[in-house]
Amino acid sequence: MKVLSYPHPVLKYKCKPIQKIDQGLRDIIAEMFQTMYDTQGVGLAANQVGLPYRLFVMNPSGDPEKKEEEYVFINPIILQKSGKSKENEGCLSFPDIHAEVIRPEFIDVESIALNGDLQHFQWAGYPARIVQHETDHLDGIGFIDRLSQTALLEIKEELEELKTVFASNQRRGFIPSETEIIQELKELERLRC
Ligand code: ZN
Repeated sequence: MKVLSYPHPVLKYKCKPIQKIDQGLRDIIAEMFQTMYDTQGVGLAANQVGLPYRLFVMNPSGDPEKKEEEYVFINPIILQKSGKSKENEGCLSFPDIHAEVIRPEFIDVESIALNGDLQHFQWAGYPARIVQHETDHLDGIGFIDRLSQTALLEIKEELEELKTVFASNQRRGFIPSETEIIQELKELERLRC
């Protein structure tokens, strides 16, 4: 698994709900946790590693030893949001870019657990921010889409640089064309959505 960077089209893709929880999915989740730890992340959404599924993993401590802080969200829905907070945010798909994002402080979220049960959490602060950031990914929304015009201007050059790298990799055939990428996502969807 490799974390894909902006402006890869999969980051704009609206992920589809998962219909089948099986060993294949458990393997995907284990690999997502490993990839998240390897890249020093605290959350990772399936489309960041090229999978079109409504699924993300989180460990707010970022510490692989702290298994009790690992959470899996399958088909998450944020039922309620309240309050407001402003914090510096980064994203594994936007390497070395950070910006302040305003988000609700408290959330109520419902999702499916690995055993198929419906799970319900109330989060505040940092975990609430991670859950919102990752759920946004599943809707094809990046944290840069949540920035003020001023904040966006401040990171404009870094974004342009990522676009240049992406275009160059695509030209050299390291990344498939957008049509091929979408076709592959549709095939993956057929397997478990
Ligand atoms: Zn992210």
